[in-house]
Amino acid sequence: MSRIAVISDIHANLEALRAVLDDIRYEQCSDIVCLGDVVGYDADPSACVEIVRSLKCPVVKGNHDEQVSNADFNGEYSENRRMNPFAKAAMEWTRAQLNEEQLTWLRRLQLMRLIQPFTIVHATMDSARLWNYVFNVDDAISNFTRQFTDICFHGHTHRPKIFYKEGSHVEEETDILSHLASGIARFRPQSGRKYFINVGSVGQPRDGDPRACYAIFDRDTYEIIFKRVSYDIETAMSKIIAAGLPDYLADRLAKGV
Ligand code: ZN
Repeated sequence: MSRIAVISDIHANLEALRAVLDDIRYEQCSDIVCLGDVVGYDADPSACVEIVRSLKCPVVKGNHDEQVSNADFNGEYSENRRMNPFAKAAMEWTRAQLNEEQLTWLRRLQLMRLIQPFTIVHATMDSARLWNYVFNVDDAISNFTRQFTDICFHGHTHRPKIFYKEGSHVEEETDILSHLASGIARFRPQSGRKYFINVGSVGQPRDGDPRACYAIFDRDTYEIIFKRVSYDIETAMSKIIAAGLPDYLADRLAKGV
C-alpha cells in the first residue's frame, strides 16, 4: 500500500463513481477504501454495489446501507436526526432495486475498520451506530475520545473537512481546503496531532461544489490529497427523474448542496 484512495458517500451515483475510479487509476493509487453509503438517493444502486464489491476493498457501513438492507430497522437515530422524507422515499425505491445477495452484502458490512495505520468509519468513532454528524469542532471532540489511530477517515456530512486534536485542544483546519476550488488540495499531517478527516462525497457533494470529491493518502510522502472530479451530472440527474425519485434529489446534484 502506498497511495490509498479514500472514497465515501457514492449514493448510487454511477456517473460520479465511474469518473472518480478513472481519476484513481490516473493517480496510480494502489488501494481503495470505501467509507459507506454506497446506495441511497440516486438512480443506480445495483450497479454501484456491484462495482464496489468488485473492488474487493475494505468498506464500512453507512446509514443508508443500514436502512436499505435491514428490513427491521427501527431507527436508532436520536429523535432529531430521523431520515429526511427525500431519503426515505429513495430508501424504499432503492430496496426494491437490490437483490437478496446485494442486500446481504450491505447488511454484513462492519461499522468501522482498522486499516493500518489508520481507521475508517462512516460517521464517528465514538458512536458509529448513532450516525451523528460532525460539522464543527464541538461535534468532533467526542470522536477523538474513541479515535486511537493518528488518522481516521470518515464521511456522512458530504463535506470535506479536517479536524485535529493536539493535546486536549481540538481545531478545524480550514486554510488547506480553501485550495480545493482549484480541484486539488494537499497537506501533510503533523506529528503529535490526531486527525479526523472527512473526504467529502463522491455522489452527492454538499459543500456548494457539485464536482465529485475524494481523497488520496500517500503513505510514502505522508501526504493527504483532496481531489475534485467533474462528471456527467446531467445524465445522473435525468436518471433520477426517469426513475421517479424526488426531483429535489436531481436538483441538488447540480448545486452541490
Ligand atoms: Zn451519505
